[in-house]
Amino acid sequence: MKIAVLPGDGIGVEIIAQALRVLDVFKSEGMKIETEEALLGGCAVDATGSPYPEATQQIARDADAVLLGAVGGPKWDVLPRPQRPERGLLGIRKDLNLFANLRPAILYAELANASSLKPEVVAGLDIMIVRELTGDIYFGEPRGISVEDGQRVGRNTMIYNEAEIRRIGRVAFKAAQKRSKKLCSVDKMNVLETTQLWRDVIIELAAEYPDVELSHMLVDNAAMQLVRNPKQFDVMVTGNMFGDILSDEASMLTGSIGMLPSASLDANNKGMYEPCHGSAPDIAGKNLANPLATILSAAMMLRYTFNNEQAAGRIEGAVKKVLAAGYRTADIFEAGKQKVSCSEMGDRVVAAM
Ligand code: NAD
Repeated sequence: MKIAVLPGDGIGVEIIAQALRVLDVFKSEGMKIETEEALLGGCAVDATGSPYPEATQQIARDADAVLLGAVGGPKWDVLPRPQRPERGLLGIRKDLNLFANLRPAILYAELANASSLKPEVVAGLDIMIVRELTGDIYFGEPRGISVEDGQRVGRNTMIYNEAEIRRIGRVAFKAAQKRSKKLCSVDKMNVLETTQLWRDVIIELAAEYPDVELSHMLVDNAAMQLVRNPKQFDVMVTGNMFGDILSDEASMLTGSIGMLPSASLDANNKGMYEPCHGSAPDIAGKNLANPLATILSAAMMLRYTFNNEQAAGRIEGAVKKVLAAGYRTADIFEAGKQKVSCSEMGDRVVAAM
């Protein structure tokens, strides 16, 4: 197993260190894991001038999987856009053709009180959001800020072709087949032609998956339904921008963004695995971050790229055990529990494994 490790910026370094300790447990038992570290994001800009340097591209392309912390921070927000850390992230997704982003939002029973919603609304929540990751308004051309008729105009382009919609649709239908066979496709077809095409193509695809019950929802309603009655959903599929927003919203249902892993896959199950959150500059370097999203991302990596369900389940089981034993980082802390640091949370997970 060849894994490119990209800690990135801010808390990225701290949380990746804990995920690597978890992988070390398997290594010490004889699993053949090779890791190679490389720079991505702000640290790469500082060292090379580029957020996704050549050397990192080579290591990422050669690897079977990429394990990523997070990138970005206020220090780099003043740079021209092509040099910003977030461009590195978009760049590696595009370069590796990681078009399918799988984001589970699972509420661990032990964290029902950490959710901002009432426990009865969220208890037992288990949603999978499938977000298209390499198209849509984030990549569409033309884009930019120009001066027209004496005033500044900002422009981005929302665009999908039917092949792009079909391939993400297939990932979502297949994910639904493995779960409760319910798929909700989210669009804004009442005002956006791009998403009218999205809906048309998803409806055509449904004929190939007769066992999956397909429904459609407008994105504004979906945003509302996610906080009103989130358990009505199982698998949701949507475009890049709507998925970006809805998956962060879904993450909050689970109590903390620090709990949510994600997988971004290409057509051959090569994947990049990363927590859903960012580099959290407000707590970086303080050993306060919750490493569980990153540790659970390593579990997803073992499941989706390396087909090792048993190892993935062992990590997830250890995380559950640690939560059940009452250990909490600050972001999920509640009275009566034991507060632990980022590295102590790593200690607990390793011990539970
Ligand atoms: P963020 O996710 O970094 O932080 C939002 C809030 O959640 C902060 O209060 C932070 O302390 C908290 N938080 C996040 N992860 C946590 C964890 N593991 N444990 C405990 N608390 C955690 O989002 P932001 O503040 O909007 O962005 C900060 C930087 O991260 C920006 O530069 C942004 O561009 C970048 N970013 C990167 C990614 C990525 O690398 N995939 C994603 C989102 C944002």
